[in-house]
Amino acid sequence: MTDLPPPTEPFQIDVALARVAAAVEPYPKAAMFALAELDYRTPFQQLVACMISIRTRDEESLPLSLRLFAAAADAAAVAALTPAQIDALIAPSTFHERKAQQIHAIAAHVAALPGGELPCDGDQMRSFSGVGPKCANLAMGIACDAPSISVDIHVHRVVNRWGYVSAGSPEQTMLALEKTLPARYRVAINALLVPFGKHICTGTAPRCSTCPLLDMCPRIGVTRHR
Ligand code: SF4
Repeated sequence: MTDLPPPTEPFQIDVALARVAAAVEPYPKAAMFALAELDYRTPFQQLVACMISIRTRDEESLPLSLRLFAAAADAAAVAALTPAQIDALIAPSTFHERKAQQIHAIAAHVAALPGGELPCDGDQMRSFSGVGPKCANLAMGIACDAPSISVDIHVHRVVNRWGYVSAGSPEQTMLALEKTLPARYRVAINALLVPFGKHICTGTAPRCSTCPLLDMCPRIGVTRHR
C-alpha cells in the first residue's frame, strides 16, 4: 500500500455522485434495479425480490427472483403456491425456508386486498414479517417513485467514508441521509453506491489509488487500500 495524498477538493455530493455514475457504468446494476428494467417493478415484485436478496449476493438472488416470477408473477399466483413450492424456487437464497413462509403470508394478505395489489404504502410494507426499512424503502422508491432512501451495507460504508454522514449502523445512516441528501438522489443513491461499494469502494482494501473521488474523499476509517 502506498501513501495517498490528502483530498484537495471539498466534498460535494453532486460531483461525487456524477463521478460514481460514470465509474459504475461497466458493472451490473443492483438486483432490484435490474429487475425493474426487466419490467418486474410492481410493489409486490420489488418487495419479494428484495426479501429474496437479503444476505444473498445479487448474482444469486436475481435469477432466483426471476425463477419465482416465471412460476408466479403476482400475489394471487404466489399465494396459490405452497410455502414448500416457494422454498424450492428460491433456494439457495439465505434463510430460504423462513423467507418462503414470509413471502407466502404476504402474498396471501395482498391477494385478499381489493384489486389484489400491494399498495404504495411503506408502513404496510414494514408491518410484514421479514420486511425491514431497507426493502420497504427500496420497493417504495423503485415501484412507487417515492423519495425513499434504502441503505444497505455498501451505501452505509461509502457515505461514512466520505464523511457525508457519521453514523454507526445502516439504520442510523438512513436517518442521517434523510436529513441531508437532496430528494433527487434518494432512490438513485442505492443504485449508484451498491455497485460502487461492491467493485471500487470495497469493504476490505478499497481501490482508492484509482478511485475517481480520490481528490475529494477524506477516506474516513480506511486503514488499508489498493
Ligand atoms: S475508494 Fe477510497 S477514495 Fe474512493 S470513495 Fe472509497 S474511500 Fe474514498
